[in-house]
Amino acid sequence: MVARGSGAELRVERVRLPAPGPGEVRVTIRAAGVCHSDLSMVNGTLAARFPLVLGHEATGVVAETGPGVELSVGTPVVLNWAPACRACWWCRRGEQWLCADTTAPTVPRGETDDGVPLHLTLGLGALAEAVVVPERAVIPIPAGLPPEQAALLGCAVLTGVGAVRNTARVTPGESVAVVGLGGVGLAVLSAARRAGATTILAVDVAEAKRDLAFAAGATDFLLSDDRLSKEVRARTESRGVDHAFECVGRAATIRAAWRLTRRGGAVTVVGMGAKDDMVSLGALDIFHSARTLRSSVYGSSDPDREVPVLAAELAEGALDLGVLVSGTIPLDEAPVAFDRLARGEGARWVVTLD
Ligand SMILES: [Zn+2]
Ligand SMILES: [Zn+2]
Repeated sequence: MVARGSGAELRVERVRLPAPGPGEVRVTIRAAGVCHSDLSMVNGTLAARFPLVLGHEATGVVAETGPGVELSVGTPVVLNWAPACRACWWCRRGEQWLCADTTAPTVPRGETDDGVPLHLTLGLGALAEAVVVPERAVIPIPAGLPPEQAALLGCAVLTGVGAVRNTARVTPGESVAVVGLGGVGLAVLSAARRAGATTILAVDVAEAKRDLAFAAGATDFLLSDDRLSKEVRARTESRGVDHAFECVGRAATIRAAWRLTRRGGAVTVVGMGAKDDMVSLGALDIFHSARTLRSSVYGSSDPDREVPVLAAELAEGALDLGVLVSGTIPLDEAPVAFDRLARGEGARWVVTLD
């Protein structure tokens, strides 16, 4: 799935990938989710270089290994778009999600059929039949997981669950609001439920998300309109929620999440927004509200450690991702998934390959 430029029509193209070099593997992709960040690169919200192979949330099987690789052919894996070096200052502190030496997505790899160097989304380019990536960008998982669900472990689920468990550290009995019910927002909802939150308010502009929200674990669904703040206070003894999660990546929704949070509560920004979208907060409000505003990059997680935990939960049935998968489609029809995502339809659309 290649984008030739910002706003250009998406096409499935034949491309040439290099053979795996030292420390690299070739992975045959079995399923890849279409994530909002892919859409943001296509529509210009996030900066990108073209031609660009889309996709960064996928599962597959190791098909070929370069020299010095320990993984064996046939190992099922999930792709990791922020592989940690384990040597930099942040990695040594245990903050792998802030690694200073993660795979540079700006370096082209492979080429189009007409010989133009290819760029890969977040160093992966996973909406494809295969990828060639460093060994550290793949994480082994148990065999036999449903591929359309396992794919989501690599972005939406790790991000959503990590935001709840690692960044916000939601505890039993707390109240939570989730603003924006795409794949990540729904993953946050279900993680909040599993963390024992008792008031879980799902917020979206689209009424069509109501059923999905309840299926994912919300205790209430609220439309994002002028009455939102009032409705949230009516459900939290007039205080506001302990935790608000912003899963859109816009100044307006960050402000909304801020206003829904109680004095002393925490706002966790999970959505990735544009660099020129400025958030304005009153200086007195910041002081008086005593709220914490922080972001959750890749769920503040160490993917190498946490993806296998989530995969085990999926295998045991403790983690049910069925509600996140709105449907599967073949690669040829992947542009349709982008249209649906742009219209805010469903949760995750997953491209499956046989
Ligand atoms: Zn993503
Ligand atoms: Zn590092």
